[in-house]
Amino acid sequence: MMVSKSVSPSAKIGFIGLGNMGYPMARNLVNAGYQLTVADLDQERLQRFCQETGSTAGNSLSALGAASQVVITMLPEGKAVRQVLLGNGGDAVVPGLAKGAILIDMSSSSPVGTRALGSELAALGYSLVDAPVSGGIHKAADGTLAIMVGGEPAVYEACQPLFAVLGKSFHTGGPASGHAMKAMNNYLSAATLTLTAEAVITGTRFGLDPKIMVDILNASSGRSNSSEQKFPAYILPRTFDSGFFLGLMAKDLRFALELAEAEQAPCELLRRLSHIYDAAEQELGFKADNTDIYRYLESLAGKEQG
Ligand code: NAD
Repeated sequence: MMVSKSVSPSAKIGFIGLGNMGYPMARNLVNAGYQLTVADLDQERLQRFCQETGSTAGNSLSALGAASQVVITMLPEGKAVRQVLLGNGGDAVVPGLAKGAILIDMSSSSPVGTRALGSELAALGYSLVDAPVSGGIHKAADGTLAIMVGGEPAVYEACQPLFAVLGKSFHTGGPASGHAMKAMNNYLSAATLTLTAEAVITGTRFGLDPKIMVDILNASSGRSNSSEQKFPAYILPRTFDSGFFLGLMAKDLRFALELAEAEQAPCELLRRLSHIYDAAEQELGFKADNTDIYRYLESLAGKEQG
């Protein structure tokens, strides 16, 4: 496979998925000098982005592919990524791509699915790099995301200038290793959020002040990113607006469980947590906020938990 030259500013980038994360990430790339051709199913977001940044909306996915040295996807998950890259007999990115173009999936996709997609694309002569991110909408806007990159070392090196605009990158190893890392990170993130919620709800019912509880946790061994960031910002003020859909976290937990089961790793807690998130998504809907898991747990009070 041809090793691509460095993806420095002025390179032509296709960017698909201008949602809560993709929009500010793509805007940072434009501000750094990259020329973007963009796509999103949501026409309102697409037009707003083009007006704000002077970027071009692709006439079709294949035209976006033909105009780009690198195509980034920032979609809900890997099935949508497969659909936009390969299509299903319809419009898709890959038929338009020049040889040597790089595909970067920055969505939190299933590592199992990414491995399969990467092999199919390699057979067609294209490198797929998985580069999911952590940090949420504020770090996406600030360009301070953690980026976990799986793929060939030479392709990772070529993409360094682009990743540097978005945050701090780590090479996790071969194809799909970034997506495996991200699934494990989000398992821990959902776990600390849920565990802290159970502890704070219990303490509050006993008569403790939830704000004082969180202050004490943050000076004690029970602290975590959830107690330090999410509780003060979104849960204690009861705004529940972190900008990360509950349905996306439920999906990440299913991917983490799929991976743990495939590797025959211990996953009793993960299985239970994934079950809780699936039930919460069913009750509150995909677009409830991730931090709404707190309200969901409050609502279970006194109910039998199956
Ligand atoms: P989002 O739902 O806000 O954005 C997804 C965008 O993709 C939407 O604008 C949607 O219209 C578009 N889209 C969906 N299918 C499409 C298709 N077939 N063709 C073109 N556009 C399509 O989600 P988000 O919060 O931006 O998350 C994106 C990814 O990043 C997810 O995998 C998520 O798990 C991950 N992530 C999110 C956060 C966060 O805090 N929001 C943090 C880290 C990682």
